[in-house]
Amino acid sequence: MTASTASEPRAVAPRTVGVRAPAPRQRRLQTEIPGPASRALQQRRGNAVAAGVSSTLPVYLTSASGGLLTDVDGNVLIDFGSGIAVANVGHSAPAVVDRVREQAGLFTHTCFMVTPYEGYLQVCEALAEVTPGEHAKKSVLFNSGAEAVENAVKIARAATGRQAVVVFDHAYHGRTNLTMALTAKSVPYKHGFGPFAPEVYRVPGSYPYRDGRSGDEAARTAIDRIEKQIGGDQVAAVVIEPIQGEGGFIEPAPGFLPALSAWCADNGVVFVADEVQTGFCRTGSWFASTHENVVPDLVVTAKGIAAGLPLSAVTGRAELLDAVGPGGLGGTYGGNPVACAAALGAIETMRTEDLAGSANRMEAQVLQRLHALATETGVIGDVRGRGAMLAAEFVQPATTEPDADLTKRIAASCHAHGVVVLTCGTYGNVIRLLPPLSLSDELLDEGLTVLEHAVRTEARS
Ligand SMILES: *Cc1c(COP(=O)(O)O)cnc(C)c1O
Repeated sequence: MTASTASEPRAVAPRTVGVRAPAPRQRRLQTEIPGPASRALQQRRGNAVAAGVSSTLPVYLTSASGGLLTDVDGNVLIDFGSGIAVANVGHSAPAVVDRVREQAGLFTHTCFMVTPYEGYLQVCEALAEVTPGEHAKKSVLFNSGAEAVENAVKIARAATGRQAVVVFDHAYHGRTNLTMALTAKSVPYKHGFGPFAPEVYRVPGSYPYRDGRSGDEAARTAIDRIEKQIGGDQVAAVVIEPIQGEGGFIEPAPGFLPALSAWCADNGVVFVADEVQTGFCRTGSWFASTHENVVPDLVVTAKGIAAGLPLSAVTGRAELLDAVGPGGLGGTYGGNPVACAAALGAIETMRTEDLAGSANRMEAQVLQRLHALATETGVIGDVRGRGAMLAAEFVQPATTEPDADLTKRIAASCHAHGVVVLTCGTYGNVIRLLPPLSLSDELLDEGLTVLEHAVRTEARS
């Protein structure tokens, strides 16, 4: 496979399909990262792609399989990001590829709002089975996480006849207008993009490492703020990530989520769990709400649902979903048949391969290594997460001040050595690990060894 290094724009993409080399089995570095062919593409990109869309690691890929990414220079990288918690079943999982191929050959679109098809029904039936709670459930399908979050708010407002929406410090819910308002962090998500949607109220959440409060204390603070500043009877929905993703992989203290959920039930408020990043076995069970026996009224899903094809959903109590009249929900592409086929393949893979069990095994292995690294180096203030959604927060040892610069250098060192890690956090000082749940023990071990080396080396410099 040869990649063009031409720098002038071209009308037609090079044909690289048709020749299928056997999938690589290990990390392999043939050039520096990014290599010359990736750098040439990156230069071309500068003339054609908006600057506002950035890439963590500008290495251009030609294929991906399991937990390995192959780039245009022939390098093979270990993937600890899964395209941001999307490739939970691994890249090119056979059940996904087969179903997508078959569906693409049958039809790629009819619009469910015009002439429907069974795949959409099957995905909604599967969502009712795998989401928390035994009550009657219905679903509606969309294209992106942000779109699904927006629709959860629409449904909650229609069902309650109220307007206020409560969100939390460090929250991330997307980049559309309403979800920008729900998202906490200004740069880069909101800065310069106002005005934002009204009737969105932010309250403190639970960040045990930094606030030192118990779950009950944190919930009392949030609830007091809601009751005093908004009024419980004005609130349509509380929207919360059971473990905050972009905000820093922040796991609330035990008791926080159950207390909020109970308050919502007592006050006629719709409890919306944004499980876009935590869902689909990522945290060692189908959904993270389950870890504290919380049963959300609405669950928002996307990312891991369809192994990368654009699909998202709002699933929840049947009476809530039915509160919106015909035509009030939908969209041209929502629940696209090829995306539904991918979702059915992904869900089947999660079941047959017990990927929740795999995530739990990864948790044990990774946490033990990160804790040892924290003790050894002193630059990791907190190790946290669940299943295969794990993180280390980097700090100045003396003060626990966030150390974003060190975090950047560690990520860059991992990238240079062929391991794709992502950072996150309001303060940019968290390295997050989101490996495909199907990643082999050998590759997980190898990737962790690279990370350990990066932390040791950069902590000293
Ligand atoms: C990624 C993410 C979203 C937004 O999903 P998009 O598909 O990027 O619109 C919303 N909520 C959470 C928790 C996310 O991680």
